[in-house]
Amino acid sequence: MKIKRKPEWLKIQLPKGDDYAYVNGIVQEHGLHTICSSGKCPNVGECWGNGTATFMILGNICTRACKFCNVPTGKPLPVDTKEPKRLARSIKLMKLKHAVITSVDRDDLEDGGSGIWAECIKEIKETCPGTTLEVLIPDFNGKEKDVQRVINENPEVISHNLETVRRLTPEVRSRAKYDLSLKVLKQIADSGIVAKSGIMLGLGETEEEIYQTMDDLLAVGVKVMTIGQYLQPTRKHLELQEYITPEQFKKYEQVGLEKGFSFVESTPLVRSSYHAEQHVNALKLK
Ligand code: SF4
Ligand code: SF4
Repeated sequence: MKIKRKPEWLKIQLPKGDDYAYVNGIVQEHGLHTICSSGKCPNVGECWGNGTATFMILGNICTRACKFCNVPTGKPLPVDTKEPKRLARSIKLMKLKHAVITSVDRDDLEDGGSGIWAECIKEIKETCPGTTLEVLIPDFNGKEKDVQRVINENPEVISHNLETVRRLTPEVRSRAKYDLSLKVLKQIADSGIVAKSGIMLGLGETEEEIYQTMDDLLAVGVKVMTIGQYLQPTRKHLELQEYITPEQFKKYEQVGLEKGFSFVESTPLVRSSYHAEQHVNALKLK
């Protein structure tokens, strides 16, 4: 299987600048896991330069094996109870304006890792009062009390990604279910916290299916949607079906806004945390 050649618009600018170098130094020194670097995110130069980064907590081994994802699958290491304090101190040192936290899925833990999630949010809020926070959570197998543990800590935004349209979900996501994810998003939105979700394109979805996904997200109260191009990490991963043009992404943004989202970030290089700080600041003003 060959990986399709990238079109011009997906060419990535190499990271540069003093702010980028400063953040990179702290990430290396404190042994942190960032999606920005481990996920080889194309926006790393821009985001780190602007004081935003996405950290992955609860280790870097996932109990699930989604076919699009480059995170290793296996038996995770024991939970590091010092992680919340270490993470909060690092965010302070990095002088981040906005931090995004995500995690691997920890189906091996009784609480799905929600206890450490809550501790991390609490520590960051105490240690870095000026930093806004978005948390990109797993589905916690739909256990409401685990989702609630995160909600109770009151981060500015809680995201949970649908990743793809309903029809392709069984093929793309391991264990996760489309309707279960919508249920998690509804619980978040009902709590009054900004709910956000995202999908990747280029997996064989149709335009109609994308619009249906928008309607499904709006129906449960999601306010912010991200839409980006799927980039196949290796030949072994889920095969890329097509590159969507920037014009088509723009059309999805317009349709999404017309349908009622407060924000739609839709360009080929969008990742769920891209421009996240702008959504938070704008939503605070509303
Ligand atoms: Fe990191 Fe997200 Fe920015 Fe990518 S888009 S560099 S993952 S903060
Ligand atoms: Fe990757 Fe998340 Fe799937 Fe784990 S659950 S394999 S981290 S996408």
